Amino acid sequence: MRRVGEASQTGKKTMTANIRCIYCQEDKPESAYERSEHVIPQSFGKFLNNFTLLHLVCDACNQFFGDNLELALARDTLEGQSRTDFGVKKAEDFRSPGHQSRIRIKIDEGPFKGAYAYRDYSEVDGKVTLQPVPQIGFLQVESGERKYFPLNEIPDKQQFEELGLSFQGPKSIRVVGLGVEEASKKLAEKGISFRYEGDVVSMRESQSILTEEQATIDHTIFRATAKIAFNYLAYWEGGEFVRQLSFDWIRNFVRYGVQAPYPLVRVSQHPILADEDMRRRVGHLVTIAWAADGVSIFAQVSLLNLFTYSVALARNYEGVRRNVVRGHFFNTYDGKILELGTN
Ligand SMILES: [Zn+2]
Repeated sequence: MRRVGEASQTGKKTMTANIRCIYCQEDKPESAYERSEHVIPQSFGKFLNNFTLLHLVCDACNQFFGDNLELALARDTLEGQSRTDFGVKKAEDFRSPGHQSRIRIKIDEGPFKGAYAYRDYSEVDGKVTLQPVPQIGFLQVESGERKYFPLNEIPDKQQFEELGLSFQGPKSIRVVGLGVEEASKKLAEKGISFRYEGDVVSMRESQSILTEEQATIDHTIFRATAKIAFNYLAYWEGGEFVRQLSFDWIRNFVRYGVQAPYPLVRVSQHPILADEDMRRRVGHLVTIAWAADGVSIFAQVSLLNLFTYSVALARNYEGVRRNVVRGHFFNTYDGKILELGTN
């Protein structure tokens, strides 16, 4: 660890040099760096000899990341919600972002075909189950199936014809995830009258069904994955290296959401490890390499080995060159971190 204290010339008072945070770039005393910043957020597992940053990320930035980026990454991504499936998190600790989630699950079969759901922990069932998003479904005249709309997406009365939907006739409207009274009120706002005709089976009784998931990966999630990449670089190359101007775009994107004139994060389903395809090892991966242009530094991040985020850490890096190429596998089963070969 770098020594930051420095005795003044008089010897009476001790002057302590400030430390510049690698994210906000503010100079702060050592006392503003009490928490350790984890390269892989703790919500994604604890590891032996874990990679943590000491005296590099100030407590204010650490707090901001925890409350904003990491919370969304843990609760509102497919990777985050898969943690219970891979034993990284217990089912009863599952915290759902609710029906406003970035993840929308569409039911593909059974009496609720076409309806939307989200995952949440059910105390009754003692496990994570599908819960209905409050929504209203209308009969599709041609197919005889229903098309569902979350409450804030219900079309206006005059749009029904062009959408090929009906709201008249018996059983043309189905209400899911909310009460009859509330539904009647919502529909009345659209000029549609609703008459209660009876219940269909509840979603609880039809759990093991085919579903289709759509996840919105927005900038908050991109920032959270970019932070893992930048933290990893800082862990191996140190504060002085990552404080260089060449990393200002990625730094400001992670901390403040500032966009660069080029894409900073891309997501794909290509595996990082050369020998993997559909079947993959369970754990997280982070790698750093020089880009094909030979002057840009990029990273790859994959949580639970599900999606691959490519992060442009520095485009046209202008500092002194050094060998930054490296990669690690974070095994979520045994908590070990393995260095990857780089051929
Ligand atoms: Zn800071």
